[in-house]
Amino acid sequence: MHNVVCVKQVPDSAQIRVHPVTNTIMRQGVPTIINPYDLFALEAALELRDKFGGEITVLTMGPPSAEDSLRKALTFGADRAVLLTDRCFAGADTLATTYALATAIRKIGKEYGSPDLIFTGKQTIDGDTAQVGPGIAKRLSVLQLTYVAKIRALDFTARTIEAERRSEGGVQVLRTRLPCLITMLEATNQIRRGAMTDALRAARAPIVKWSAQDAHVEDISKCGLRGSPTVVKRVFAPSSRAEKAVLVESAEQPAEALLDAVFKHQPKLEADLAALAVCDL
Ligand code: FAD
Repeated sequence: MHNVVCVKQVPDSAQIRVHPVTNTIMRQGVPTIINPYDLFALEAALELRDKFGGEITVLTMGPPSAEDSLRKALTFGADRAVLLTDRCFAGADTLATTYALATAIRKIGKEYGSPDLIFTGKQTIDGDTAQVGPGIAKRLSVLQLTYVAKIRALDFTARTIEAERRSEGGVQVLRTRLPCLITMLEATNQIRRGAMTDALRAARAPIVKWSAQDAHVEDISKCGLRGSPTVVKRVFAPSSRAEKAVLVESAEQPAEALLDAVFKHQPKLEADLAALAVCDL
């Protein structure tokens, strides 16, 4: 079995500072980490390899410094790391990101064997869109299971996978065919500590580096800023007039008292809710 895990290098959000004048995020000098959700995806792939054997390829699109995250993924036990790096990928929105990653996954399939499963995290902690996984699945025409909390079973002979998917209404148990893309939720498994042998191997392991040309990107105009239709019209800075109010003084406080306190602070809210209640009637 061959599984591909997409990992993104992101700024460590615990270390991010906001510029006091411009209110923009100050990224310079901020340490980077593997997007935390991607570690759960990697662990899910490692657990499957423990049971069924095979190989795991980790893939990232990013600047040359993203090699650090790939090396870290190798210390957890991934077999191979591919860094998709080229100036033409810079400034990519999700449309351009999925184009580049899907192209690289096709090339990975040709070089190292078609993937049975492609894993991504649920979302990143910097972009937060949660669009990249589904976008890759669409571009590769593979089935997708999103918001997966647990892989329950995998039948390699019948080529089916059964997974628990967390949804608003509860947990869905879904079964589908391989190949398939899975976006993995947080805290669904215990991320392992890498073995010493993996750490030693990771320190020396070659990282496969592909430019757009190496990855056989057919249309450069679909990459990076040029291939990104997303337009940022305005950045909203957090309001400095935000007010903090203590509304609950004890856990025993009745709900009515809490509502009274909320309405006292937000009188318009009470009127709006009353109007809605009349409409419902
Ligand atoms: P998500 O879709 O949240 O990521 C899901 C998973 O996809 C990840 O867990 C990871 O497994 C995989 N993945 C994502 N990126 C990579 C990568 N480079 N390499 C390998 N695997 C990856 N783009 C838009 O199109 N619309 C926006 O509104 C938008 N807003 C942004 C706001 C901020 C503050 C920032 C920093 C970026 C924004 N972007 C936006 C750009 C966005 O970060 C990029 O498109 C990014 O490459 C992928 O989107 P994401 O981080 O939201 O990924």
